[in-house]
Amino acid sequence: MTPIIGLIANIENDLKLSMLSAYGEAIEKSGGLPIVLTYIEDEGAIDAFIDTCHGFLFTGGADIEPQYYGEEKKITCGATQPFRDKLEFNVFKKAYESDKPILAICRGAQLVNVALGGTLYQDIPTEYETDILHLQTEDKLTPSHPILVERDTPLFHLVSKEIMTGNSFHHQAIKTLADGLKVMAKSHDGMIEAVYAPNKKYFRAYQWHPERLYSFDDNRALFDDFINTCKTGE
Ligand code: MN
Repeated sequence: MTPIIGLIANIENDLKLSMLSAYGEAIEKSGGLPIVLTYIEDEGAIDAFIDTCHGFLFTGGADIEPQYYGEEKKITCGATQPFRDKLEFNVFKKAYESDKPILAICRGAQLVNVALGGTLYQDIPTEYETDILHLQTEDKLTPSHPILVERDTPLFHLVSKEIMTGNSFHHQAIKTLADGLKVMAKSHDGMIEAVYAPNKKYFRAYQWHPERLYSFDDNRALFDDFINTCKTGE
């Protein structure tokens, strides 16, 4: 059985969609079928999307509108995509309630944290003291800062190592962690790099981009693990 994985793309103000191909390629290589939802508002249609998919991948993209975590938008916050925010928070809520497997990457990790009541740094360079360039200057296929994996977490059980190498393309990050989420990994400056939801069957979020490091280190395992869970439902 090939599990169907639902994704939300970037959605411009004219409702034009775009998505980097690496997310779909990683899902395909690990044995899943990626399908992308266009902008819709009908609740019944969104419910049908939730029913159709065996799992959901919340991908990278633009900054989340800070009103979703109760803040004024600072001048350092990047461009936002209101239609994507609206659709994606709606889909996430229903996906979360369905208890189907959820994987979230970069903006996706920030989105799930905000959706569950957490907050974000709107701009790391001006709000967080660090010697790490979280918006790395190397290309996306090049690993940059280490990921320190915490013991006794699903990520540690999966990769059996305390240090992984990630790439890093974010100027925002989780500030206050939502209730219901737990840290799986940090960078050495204390920034949260991976979280999971212990009360859910399968809910993992990574701040780096494993889809771009698919053949590097243990990053492929993050997708294989997700797709296998979507396949078996457990
Ligand atoms: Mn980082």
